Parts: sequence; C-alpha cells; structure tokens
Amino acid sequence: MTDTPSPDLVRLIMELRGQGVTDARVLAAMERVPRAAFVDERQQASAYENRPLSIGLGQTISQPFIVGLMTDALKLGDRMKVLEIGTGSGYQTAILSRLALRVYTVERHRPLMKMAEERFRRLGLSNIVTRHGDGGEGWPEQAPFDRIIVTAAAPELPEKLVEQLKPGGIMVCPVGPPDASQVLLRVTKHDAGKEVENLGFVAFVPLVQGVARDV
Ligand code: SAH
Repeated sequence: MTDTPSPDLVRLIMELRGQGVTDARVLAAMERVPRAAFVDERQQASAYENRPLSIGLGQTISQPFIVGLMTDALKLGDRMKVLEIGTGSGYQTAILSRLALRVYTVERHRPLMKMAEERFRRLGLSNIVTRHGDGGEGWPEQAPFDRIIVTAAAPELPEKLVEQLKPGGIMVCPVGPPDASQVLLRVTKHDAGKEVENLGFVAFVPLVQGVARDV
C-alpha cells in the first residue's frame, strides 16, 4: 500500500477531483488503495477506469466516482466507528478503513466476504471487522455508529439502520427500486428527528433481504 501509485491510478484521482470529489483526505485515501487488488485477473486492464466492474455473483465494485462521492458525503473523522452494508469486493471498505478508527462491514454472499477478507489481510488493513449476514438488520451488538454507509439500494430509507446511528451521526444510502432511478440520500440524525438530503441520482444493485445460499 505504500508503493508509488500506478500512473493509471494517479490519472483516475485527477479525474475524480475534476468531477467534484475535492476533500484532500478522501483523495489521498483513494490514491493509497490499489483498486486492481479488488478485481479479478480479467478485469486488471480496466481496474482504473471510472466505471463499475463485475465481481461475480451478479454484484459489482462501485464506480470510483461514486465511492469518492459517498466517502466525501460521510464527513469521516479518524476516531469514528463506521458500519458498512454490502462489503462486495471490499474496495469501499478499504478506503473507509484509511479514514476511520474501525469499520464493521456486512455482506450476504459468503464467497465475496471471504475474498474481501483475504484482500484486507494482504493489504495489512487490520481495523476492519467482517460479518456474513443480512445487513438490513445492521449490527445491533456494535451499535451505535458514528457513520453508516449502504452500498446497495434499499427500497425505502432503512429506519432500522437510522436507529443504530449516534445522535449527530450520518448515514449515506441509495434508495429506490431495482433497475430504476434511485437517489443517494444523506441522513443526519438529530436528537429530535432527522435531516434528509438528496445527493443525486445513482444506480446500485439492490439490497436483498436475508443471507444468500451460496454453494
Ligand atoms: N462497496 C462494494 C459494492 C458492492 S455491491 C464494493 O466496493 O465492491 C453491493 C453489495 O451489497 C453486494 O456484494 C451484495 O451482495 C451486498 N448486499 C446486498 N444486500 C445485502 C444485505 N441485505 N446484506 C448484506 N449485503 C448485501
């Protein structure tokens, strides 16, 4: 991770800056995480393209711009405890782990979880705690969290997750039907209610209930 970033990664980071991901800490974290380590051999040549890529089991590694936008929107601090729903490849998790104290991440596909764990181990990311389960339930034993990020589209705002936020906490979550227009929402929890902001249109794989029965 301390290696000099590849020219393709440096170009991608410049592109993200141009697209409006301006937080220097977020850009620096993204520059230190080699996206190539999160995709398989067939995707190596595309690893630093600014688009989602397949990671198997019908799932995708998010577009780098969206990862930057969501990470920026979370306003992370380095003492924070973060919950991520939808580990997938583990790419977003790795970036969060560079910016927060500890990241708890939940994935419903065991094979994806196992591959992500192996990547975290190889990259020496030791502040990530993984769980195979239904992220729609959150992680009640570890709640409350300073921040929550959902990387799959929920049919409606998941109140169960909002409950697991600390007062003043922030959750970023795509909301909307599968294969149709979804919006990225940022929820800030206050003692008396919550503030919801619309950060724009996005396209995510759906948040699916229950754990997957993978062979
Ligand atoms: N952040 C990931 C994006 C993965 S796509 C990355 O950068 O690679 C979204 C992931 O959410 C998929 O892996 C999918 O299996 C997972 N997912 C969908 N519904 C879920 C649920 N209820 N609980 C946990 N994970 C879920």
